[in-house]
Amino acid sequence: MILIKTEPELDLMRKSGAILKAAFLEVGRMIRPGVTTGELDRVAEDTILSGGGIPAFKGYQGFPACICASVNEEVVHGIPGPRRLENGDIIGIDMGAIYEGFYSDATRTYAVGDVPEETLRLIKVTKEALDLGIDKARPGNHLSDISHAIQAHAEGSGYSVVRVLVGHGIGRRMHEDPQIPNFGPAGYGPVLKAGMVLAIEPMVNAGGSDVLTLGDKWTFVTVDGKLSCHFEDTVAVTNDGPEIMTR
Ligand code: MG
Repeated sequence: MILIKTEPELDLMRKSGAILKAAFLEVGRMIRPGVTTGELDRVAEDTILSGGGIPAFKGYQGFPACICASVNEEVVHGIPGPRRLENGDIIGIDMGAIYEGFYSDATRTYAVGDVPEETLRLIKVTKEALDLGIDKARPGNHLSDISHAIQAHAEGSGYSVVRVLVGHGIGRRMHEDPQIPNFGPAGYGPVLKAGMVLAIEPMVNAGGSDVLTLGDKWTFVTVDGKLSCHFEDTVAVTNDGPEIMTR
């Protein structure tokens, strides 16, 4: 069942999203060659806590950190630690906050130093795919309109979308109904209504769509070792159109 949020609930989700925005601002400033993913994690946690939020990922099903830090061929759920970013890397930072019991969830992928043009294009296309998906988050549309918009843009640009990981509803829990695949034909699934809140999150691979999990049981990587890029925002469906709560 897809829960419809009340206006006071949406307000709490906006505040939760604002806490995340502040954390991304601080983390984004630190992205450079030589910084460790563990340092990024500490800054994110400090910023979320000082904003009055709780880091949503830390302890979630045993996850040990505040952020997921996924570098290059890592798709999602990378564990931050002593790894130092190198010139030419890309890093996806995924984090969540809880405010007054309400979750927000977002991801940004950053280029580290000087990154090849083709890598910048992957980042650009993934961000565009997210924006095109978000634009379909309107009352009266079908859920799979979002999925299809993402897939069409990613594949139309010569990339693939990850199939085994999906976006999700969000609210008092990080993962609520519905699941939001990043692929599929338009016009299927539930009809969207004002008050639904969705975490839309395309994961776009430069090569094939297949992924696997590393021995740490968390980190997903591409099977072919090629780059993967991830963007995510928490989006409310409103009668005035999509409201991005994490941007
Ligand atoms: Mg998510």
